Amino acid sequence: MDRRSFLVTTGAAVIAAPDLFSVEAQPVAYTLPPLPYAFDALEPYIDAKTMEIHHDKHHGAYVTNLNKALEGQPDLAAKSLDALIGNLDAVPESIRTAVRNNGGGHWNHSMFWKIMKKGGGGEPRGPVADAIKSTFGDFAAFKAKINDTGMKRFGSGWSWLFIKDGKLVIDSTPNQDCPVMAGAKPILGVDVWEHAYYLKYQNRRNEYLEAWWNTLDWDGINENYAAAKK
Ligand code: MN
Repeated sequence: MDRRSFLVTTGAAVIAAPDLFSVEAQPVAYTLPPLPYAFDALEPYIDAKTMEIHHDKHHGAYVTNLNKALEGQPDLAAKSLDALIGNLDAVPESIRTAVRNNGGGHWNHSMFWKIMKKGGGGEPRGPVADAIKSTFGDFAAFKAKINDTGMKRFGSGWSWLFIKDGKLVIDSTPNQDCPVMAGAKPILGVDVWEHAYYLKYQNRRNEYLEAWWNTLDWDGINENYAAAKK
């Protein structure tokens, strides 16, 4: 996602829909995008305290530490986030792990806030619903596979739907790895780090995953799908 969208959203009353796959370069520091809804907007599925800590502290730290890693690296700092994490080989080894973890963390969380909303959930609709149906059978099968993939991710990571080589794929990544790092284009992803659910669900990741579907913004997901197909 490009930094201009982040800048536009910072402190503005109107929330711009950032283009996840822009490759526009802006030689400015990364900024934490504001949460596009109140901390309690996803209650009762995701509690306000979790959202506050998750956005302000966890996502905030990824942004701070990404900027720190890129200090004194004007060529890298001028790249878009997609271009930066999409070619980690171009990042010096001394900061590659920091860029991978914090750049991935910034990308993943910016996506995550965007695919949820107050009053979300329900059956998928639009083009992504047709694609899900033709690839995975029906919504119930798709949901079960995303949840199962998230349950099987040992430790911390994400469960994803992405497009790779023109095909819809469900898979997980460890830590803050992002499918963009492997040349894929994410459509949706769910954070299965304990920090995403522990306050409300403790060790019950399955209950969190089941509840999470009630927060989904299928319009935002369709935007990601349209961008991923380009
Ligand atoms: Mn997280």
